[in-house]
Amino acid sequence: MTVDYDLVIIGAGPAGLTAGIYAARARMKVLLLEKAVPGGQILVTDWIENYPGFPEGISGYDLAEKMRVQAEDLGLEIQTAQVHSLNLSADVKEIVLKEKTIRTKSLIIASGASPKKLGIGEDKYMGKGISFCATCDAPFFRDKTVVAIGGGDTAVQEAIFLTKFAKKVFLVHRRDELRAAKILQERAFANDKIEFVWDSAVTGVDGLFGIENVHVKNLKTNKETTLKADGCFIWVGILPNTEFLNGAVKTDEFGFIVADAKMQTSVPGVYVAGDVRDTPLRQISTAVGDAAIAAVCAEHYIENL
Ligand code: NAP
Repeated sequence: MTVDYDLVIIGAGPAGLTAGIYAARARMKVLLLEKAVPGGQILVTDWIENYPGFPEGISGYDLAEKMRVQAEDLGLEIQTAQVHSLNLSADVKEIVLKEKTIRTKSLIIASGASPKKLGIGEDKYMGKGISFCATCDAPFFRDKTVVAIGGGDTAVQEAIFLTKFAKKVFLVHRRDELRAAKILQERAFANDKIEFVWDSAVTGVDGLFGIENVHVKNLKTNKETTLKADGCFIWVGILPNTEFLNGAVKTDEFGFIVADAKMQTSVPGVYVAGDVRDTPLRQISTAVGDAAIAAVCAEHYIENL
């Protein structure tokens, strides 16, 4: 069977682009497939302060763009395409796209993750007050009141960003302590535009043309209240982007891909990197670390074929 590539990478976030940089420098014949714009989730991250080398911080967009330019300058081929399915049963791995099938000796899955929904009216109010992206939508809420949901790094960091525009941000969290990094917690607690609504869940939103009311239930007392707000940002965690996987490699109970220390999945020659991996920490720095290991191990794998 003919083979088109030594390595195909799925996903052009920090993990995929890093894998591409390593593979291009190793002079592998490599293709990176991305269904949208290269950059991944960091494209919607306003400001990154914990990626080494940028002491003043860097915008997610700028960091993604630098990674893309670096990868393409090294010769990485990036194609816009959505992966439909994988056939990994033979030594030559098949990546099925809408128009064609690509054959490769090795594969790195770096397809990332997407924000989880809560079922509180996301479909009806998306673009009409509900959002998952402060970088994209915060300017629409200048001098308005918004609700942010969640207690992790994303919710707290983005709630702080929202205060640059909104006059008030209610941060609704289901427990009475935050999961977010302590430095983010300190900043949020010191921000007098943020009001915490502890032990509570948002049960729904309503409004005529956009959001006007956000309904909240205290999970300890069952008391229901309504917050008057113009927007509602949902940051309650992430789901793996594995719609094309269909059991082709082993995943954990939440659908994240399981790998060994070499980033190899349950299928030899198939590697994983970044947020889509079953990992204790999802950062840009861990994604690029995964990707460097995956690319070098893929190189060794095809050398020994
Ligand atoms: P996360 O860490 O999984 O936090 C999700 C938050 O949403 C938690 O506080 C959780 O509550 C809450 N939650 C989950 N399901 C919920 C539900 N059904 N209803 C209400 N609340 C719910 O997710 P994330 O904040 O999106 O972060 C994802 C990954 O990216 C993490 O590894 C994070 O560290 C990383 N990240 C890092 C940075 C940074 O370093 N600056 C920025 C963004 C993201 P509980 O706490 O009660 O479980």
